[in-house]
Amino acid sequence: MRKVSIFGATGSIGQNTVDLIARDPNTYDVVALTGGANIALLAEDAKRLRADIAITAYDDRLDDLRAALAGTGIEAAAGQAALVEAGARPADWVMSAIVGAAGLAPGLEALKQGATLALANKETLVCAGQLVLDTARQHDARLLPVDSEHSAIFQALVGEDMASVERIIITASGGAFRDWPLEALEHASLAEASNHPNWDMGQRITIDSASMFNKALEVIETREFFGVDPSQIEVIIHPESMVHSLVGFRDGALMAHLGAPDMRHAIGYALHWPERRDLPVARLDLAQLGQLNFKAPEDARYPALRLAYEVMDRGGLSGAVFNAAKERALDAFIAERIGFLDMACVVEQVLDRFEANPGLIDAQMTLDNVTQTDHLARLWADEAMAQRAGR
Ligand code: NDP
Ligand code: MG
Repeated sequence: MRKVSIFGATGSIGQNTVDLIARDPNTYDVVALTGGANIALLAEDAKRLRADIAITAYDDRLDDLRAALAGTGIEAAAGQAALVEAGARPADWVMSAIVGAAGLAPGLEALKQGATLALANKETLVCAGQLVLDTARQHDARLLPVDSEHSAIFQALVGEDMASVERIIITASGGAFRDWPLEALEHASLAEASNHPNWDMGQRITIDSASMFNKALEVIETREFFGVDPSQIEVIIHPESMVHSLVGFRDGALMAHLGAPDMRHAIGYALHWPERRDLPVARLDLAQLGQLNFKAPEDARYPALRLAYEVMDRGGLSGAVFNAAKERALDAFIAERIGFLDMACVVEQVLDRFEANPGLIDAQMTLDNVTQTDHLARLWADEAMAQRAGR
């Protein structure tokens, strides 16, 4: 039996992972499932998969979780420390699908146990790429990509030498507003931004797709995961979301990965790697599809992309700053306290303020320093938003 844990089991990626694991009950021994506010779903899946332990991120929900698991013999736990402890429980394969920087510490802990970490949580590499890669190396652990673009790139690279890679082309659907006139974006509403044209995902990543912050995070994730130079990473708008990304080689060949927009492909690939197994995803009918479209992203529409390249140039802890400021600005947009275009302005302001304090960004990349930087960036994002509101 393979021991597996799912962090963020109650979310969009988590539920797709639960679906795949539940299809093979005699193959997997489920160790830990973690969730947040959705106690009923967490308890239901813990029972369904016979997990050893279920953990909610929120201390004040522990009694509810205990009550939901009463009489099952499944342990219940709550809080940040318990999430990290979940990472310390030996498992062969761990899905990292908590949303946001909160996914970093539990994932790092799993790597320290030598687990294979299937990484949906892109924030892990954006905030602490070098630390995560070093930790994996030291503990002989493995990282496998789950983000569809990175899974596509990873698959296109099988059997290839990184020295023959010329460029990596990441596709982007362009999100909810790709065809909107630029002047209308200022008034884009929360409901409009929460509706992705092709993918069914959590609300936060869906809004990040509309603003292109998701692609910005993915560009940084690509640099960390594959060790390429930022100048080798391109982004192209591809409205159909059928080509998940491409690798360009020095002989001019382009290897593209195509498939239906269903995250169970990338999750299943990471679950069964290095083998390929049957997966319950739709097969593409290319004749019916007829055509695929591509176009360059307009700089004016997607300031988040420019910021991502600035962050990669800057290095150090600027990825943690970028992500934390983005998370805080996104919180405010979801609370309808700032507008859609304000998000990028807030993130840029916070990056500039850190730039004026280089000692902070150049601090050593330890989990403590990343966490402190993340907290400060959130505070400065709040200050930037208060300033804007006062104008
Ligand atoms: P969801 O919002 O659907 O799910 C997030 C999960 O994390 C839920 O289990 C949620 O619990 C839990 N959670 C929320 N806040 C916290 C916290 N502070 N501490 C611990 N756990 C928390 O997100 P997605 O599944 O869409 O995304 C998960 C990750 O995967 C993100 O990093 C995203 O960028 C990445 N990703 C997602 C894709 C997708 O198709 N959805 C595609 C590629 C990458 P609860 O719901 O119970 O509150
Ligand atoms: Mg993606």
